[in-house]
Amino acid sequence: MPKTFKTTEHVLNHLSAMQPYVPGLQPSGEDWVKLNTNENPLPPSPKVTAAIKQALGENGDRLCLYPNPNSSALRDALASHHAVSPQNVIVGNGSDDILNLLFRCFSSSTQLAGFTEPSYSLYPVLAQIQGTQCVSVEFDRTFMLDPAKVTASKANIFFLTSPNAPTGIHFTPETITTLLENFPGLLVVDEAYAAFAATNAIALLSEHPNLCIVRTFSKSHGLAGLRVGYGLANSEVIQALDTIRDSYNVNQLAQVGALAALQDPSYYQATIQTIIDTREKYLTEFRDRGWFTYDSQANFIFTEPINSSGQRGPEVAQALFEYLKTRKILVRYFKGHPLTNTFLRITVGNEHSMQILLEEIDSWLQNA
Ligand code: PMP
Repeated sequence: MPKTFKTTEHVLNHLSAMQPYVPGLQPSGEDWVKLNTNENPLPPSPKVTAAIKQALGENGDRLCLYPNPNSSALRDALASHHAVSPQNVIVGNGSDDILNLLFRCFSSSTQLAGFTEPSYSLYPVLAQIQGTQCVSVEFDRTFMLDPAKVTASKANIFFLTSPNAPTGIHFTPETITTLLENFPGLLVVDEAYAAFAATNAIALLSEHPNLCIVRTFSKSHGLAGLRVGYGLANSEVIQALDTIRDSYNVNQLAQVGALAALQDPSYYQATIQTIIDTREKYLTEFRDRGWFTYDSQANFIFTEPINSSGQRGPEVAQALFEYLKTRKILVRYFKGHPLTNTFLRITVGNEHSMQILLEEIDSWLQNA
């Protein structure tokens, strides 16, 4: 490059000081108990690995070809899975891809994007990339949603995470219906964790053209490493998103793997139930220790630790977080918000990992 080129003079102003999204730590090495990024502790269906091996071909020669640009077979399968038409479905490189497209199509410096605080911390980052003006609806400690605040937000698009992150609290179809009937913009319900919940918003799609549901194969289907998510909405919303997405936004192995996962519902019914059972068992364990713990409809538990002196607070939560890290156990600590900084978010792992976690918590309790 010319010697006089100064990158900072050329990067767009609104991006030069921005902070990127910080994902949970992905440590190298096998010996970590990893309960920090809500991955599935159980492997994907054996049908997924078989289909991917087959798609690779003898010598990987099929990799020379571009994937189907529209993820057509997967779109069709998702449409019949949710009893909608393929025109109501878009597939993405993880659901983050779909969220990104939604910000790009429906928000700007004059068309506001709204979301609750706290919720998924990627939303403000995507907004910043787009130069979007944001409006947030603040929760209190109950984490109950007041639909009137969303309606009054003047947002062109509003992102509601249900079940919510990091609490695990979900919003009922009744609450979401009230929103859809009163909020004039596009309501995105981010259902990344809906497979672990008692209710979801799918049945509302046919009646409400202002609803978009975003889902992922990363959590319930154990495919975080493949990167497949999707959106469901009226065909015009889908068309808008399709117009601006990367032409090959979902790689071939991801399309094949997700399709195979959809074809093994009984495997996933069983593994999702195992995670729900484990969640309920360990939620009770935390409550038995006197820790305030939200009801969870997701694959994680949000709990407020109390140390052996009966204290709770940011220092206590951070101390346990750090202690667990020294014991090679990763959980998530969100120190940036007063409603989250006294809590830890713990992904529901397998029984063995959860046992190790509990033993280490009890040893911390003896010393803290
Ligand atoms: N939405 C929420 C609420 C999430 O927590 C996550 C995972 N971090 C995602 C969407 C994105 O999931 P993915 O891109 O793996 O589909």
